[in-house]
Amino acid sequence: MNIKGLYREELAKQLALLGEPAYRAEQLLQWVYVKQAESFEQMSNLSAALRAKLAEEFELNAVHELRTRHATDTTEKFLFQLHGGALIETVLIPATPGLTSTDERQTVCVSTQVGCAFGCRFCASGLDGFKRNLSAAEIVDQVWLVQKLTKQKVNNIVVMGMGEPLANYENVMRALRILNAPWAFGIGARKMTVSTAGIVTGIRRLAEEPMQVRLAVSLHGATDEVRGKIMPINRKFPLNELMAACEYYAQVKGKMLTFEYILIENVNDSLEQAHKLSGMARRVHAKVNLIPYNPVEGLAWKRPDRDRCKVFQHVLREAGISATLRIEKGTDIAAACGQLRLQHEK
Ligand code: SAH
Repeated sequence: MNIKGLYREELAKQLALLGEPAYRAEQLLQWVYVKQAESFEQMSNLSAALRAKLAEEFELNAVHELRTRHATDTTEKFLFQLHGGALIETVLIPATPGLTSTDERQTVCVSTQVGCAFGCRFCASGLDGFKRNLSAAEIVDQVWLVQKLTKQKVNNIVVMGMGEPLANYENVMRALRILNAPWAFGIGARKMTVSTAGIVTGIRRLAEEPMQVRLAVSLHGATDEVRGKIMPINRKFPLNELMAACEYYAQVKGKMLTFEYILIENVNDSLEQAHKLSGMARRVHAKVNLIPYNPVEGLAWKRPDRDRCKVFQHVLREAGISATLRIEKGTDIAAACGQLRLQHEK
């Protein structure tokens, strides 16, 4: 049992079973989340006997740093290893003064699965197929370790790393509740964004959650024809069903959602797609986040040139849609999702 996957009440209950008083849970949580202890050994106000007992009963760490930090122009990437050897990526996206309005923002992008089963044609994460779901502790520990390694206070979470979060629903929600809890990280639910390839059932379920997390949907195509070519999930959940679920989510939550749209040359970057996308965004009251495709080694997809991206954005804006375009400085190899791991495994 890993402590970082437990709610406070659950930890208290486990400790009670060991015959420990209720305040032990508070002590332990202090050590884990405030003092960032890496081992039970370090918990100096607990007796040696208790520390030994805890080390026997619980695990404390779920991920460890495999490769030293790898910085691109805007982000810092971490290659983390899980018990058993599997590799995942976690990214720290620091505030970029002048780019973001809130300069204090420190965002961590977490992975939720080893590999991915959805096989989006352009994505590096699914190239080796799906291995397993991450536990809640493995998700929480990514944020914990980034804070520890960088000495930064993280206040924003995007669930946009490797894997499909809504296909690992229970563990992801548990992790987000722990990240949200005042006794752990205290990160506001509104500062958390779950990104999905479009699992309709999961979107509807998320709409019913009391926790006010944000939703981002990876659209990447404005017609079934275009989307179906690059995202196999579109066969199971075609656009009309996806849009209905998005509408439902927006209605129940009363909040805007985001459509992510990667721009791939000659695949989904036509002006016709831009017009259709505008219509969809208007219908569900969504913002659009345009992301020029990050080339992946071994895949032939390319990003359109800058002007093409600008024109695409212009069409959306003319239609009254709020659309941001992320123009990165370079297409630094391994900048895209899942590529650091891919390189390492080779
Ligand atoms: N499975 C979830 C979350 C992980 S991917 C989802 O699909 O939303 C996070 C985002 O990165 C998705 O929008 C995904 O489509 C996008 N993405 C994947 N590979 C990319 C690449 N090479 N360049 C740009 N975006 C990419």
